[in-house]
Amino acid sequence: MPHPMRTRYLLGFGLATGIMVLVGASIMLATQRFRADTQWVSHSQEVIGRLAQIRATLLDGISTQRSYLLTGNQAYRDQYQAVRPEIRAEVARLASLLADNPAQSQRASRLGDLIDKRLDSASEAVRVYDDAGLVDAQRYLGRNRGYELMLGIQQLMAQMQDDEQRLLAQRSRDSARSANILMVLGALGIPLSLLIMWAIYAQLSREVREREAAQAKAEDLNQDLGRSVSGLERATSDLREIGHYAGLLQGCRHVPEALEVTRVALGRLLPDVAGTVYLLRASQDYAEAEICWGEHLAPAHALLLPQECWALRRVQPHFVHDVHGGNACSHLDQPAAGVAVATACLPLSAQNLSLGFIYLSAPGPGPIARMEIASAAAEQLSLALGNLRLQETLRQQSIRDALTGLYNRRYLEESLPRELSRCERRKLPLALLMLDLDHFKAFNDAHGHDGGDALLAGFGRLLLASCRGEDIPCRYGGEEFILILPEADLRTATHRAEEIRTALEAMTVPHLQRTIGGSTVSIGIALFPQHAGTGDELKRMADAALYRAKRNGRNRVEVAGAA
Ligand code: GH3
Ligand code: MG
Ligand code: MG
Repeated sequence: MPHPMRTRYLLGFGLATGIMVLVGASIMLATQRFRADTQWVSHSQEVIGRLAQIRATLLDGISTQRSYLLTGNQAYRDQYQAVRPEIRAEVARLASLLADNPAQSQRASRLGDLIDKRLDSASEAVRVYDDAGLVDAQRYLGRNRGYELMLGIQQLMAQMQDDEQRLLAQRSRDSARSANILMVLGALGIPLSLLIMWAIYAQLSREVREREAAQAKAEDLNQDLGRSVSGLERATSDLREIGHYAGLLQGCRHVPEALEVTRVALGRLLPDVAGTVYLLRASQDYAEAEICWGEHLAPAHALLLPQECWALRRVQPHFVHDVHGGNACSHLDQPAAGVAVATACLPLSAQNLSLGFIYLSAPGPGPIARMEIASAAAEQLSLALGNLRLQETLRQQSIRDALTGLYNRRYLEESLPRELSRCERRKLPLALLMLDLDHFKAFNDAHGHDGGDALLAGFGRLLLASCRGEDIPCRYGGEEFILILPEADLRTATHRAEEIRTALEAMTVPHLQRTIGGSTVSIGIALFPQHAGTGDELKRMADAALYRAKRNGRNRVEVAGAA
């Protein structure tokens, strides 16, 4: 809590407490006063009562004395004699009652004196009566000042009574005033202190609310921080994952390997996202789905034209937040109505050549989360595919003959032992055909060396076209060729050789605005394991058969060992 606030609360509490204490103290004082007032009232009433009593006793005494004087009855005399001590005792009681009031107290003693005098005079009359009889007593009474004394007594008593009543009235007024003050104090002080308390309570509860809000905000901030920390952690782990993925890609030797690595990596990086990698054919006319993971909510065609995908057309990533909302590529099938699907097509390209794209889809509406990481992966894959292409080109260049497009001699020397051992393992035959163009020197002479090259290239195409996937057609040197036919028996091999021979007879190639052709080929066939057990032996046997074909008139097929 800030310091000034605390001071204000302390002040407020102090004020409220002060008011309460004041009100309480006033109530206590007023109660005491009320009690005192009540005591004073009874005190005054007692004083008034005693005055009345003294008056009654005095009048009674005087009247008894007179009765004695009139009748001489001794009983009156005795009764009168008893009055004096009684009245004295009453006056003494009155004096003690008035002891705290000097004026009244003085009056009381004067009253006592006057009464004494009056009684002295009455007693003197009795003594005169007793000594000299009624007439003397009456004479004495006529002389003495009994009437004035009685009048003074009456006046003094009236004064005292008035004074008491005045005091009584004064005390009632005081008590009423203090009651009023008390009422005002209560009526103002209690609500005021309650108001202060309420204000403090309201302020405190507002502070509590503010503090709670601040706490909630702090918690939110904390959560935000946590989120950014986990985001950072995620980014770090993404970077690590991408680094790992790039490392694996670098180690890949073939495109399918790179695609498999991509499937695993993207499946892990984007767990709720389905994906397919499309690669463009070498001819660039179609893109084909090569590998797929997850289940696409908006399935894409397995084979598509480049213009069907925006990413391929623009060579830029293409994101669609919901395929129902338009802008979707036309290679997608629309998902069921009401199912929002977000998609992304990320182009793959290297060395300014489009290679294909990655198609991603996830439950929408989009955007699909973490597309930066997918783009980074696409870049890595592009690089890897570009490298693999380059490697493949170099590899092809190293194993292919540039003029004819056939495998070169080095590749043949490498692959012949491999093919032989494979066929041996599977107990299958293998045919080796050795081919040599007939009178090629003469062809060169007739059409020039370029013409000869055109024919060699044409023959290369012919051989490639007549080959199956597992066949290995090679340019062995000059105008000599070897064709390896794994799993082919003698009948098949002979048939294929005849096909090639007759095809060449009919073949023409364009050269210098002319068509040239009419060349022929001689072919020698040797079979594994029938004619030889090793590659060298097989070649020698085929060569011998070829030599025989040449000798027997060319443009023909000869089989080893059939001399
Ligand atoms: P045969 O019917 O006995 O095989 O007669 P041939 O003329 O084909 O025999 P030879 O082996 O003596 O001649 C081969 C010729 O092929 C020699 C060479 O000039 C030619 N030649 C070899 N390599 C090439 C090439 O790359 N291009 C061209 N145009 N000619 C080549
Ligand atoms: Mg030759
Ligand atoms: Mg020849």
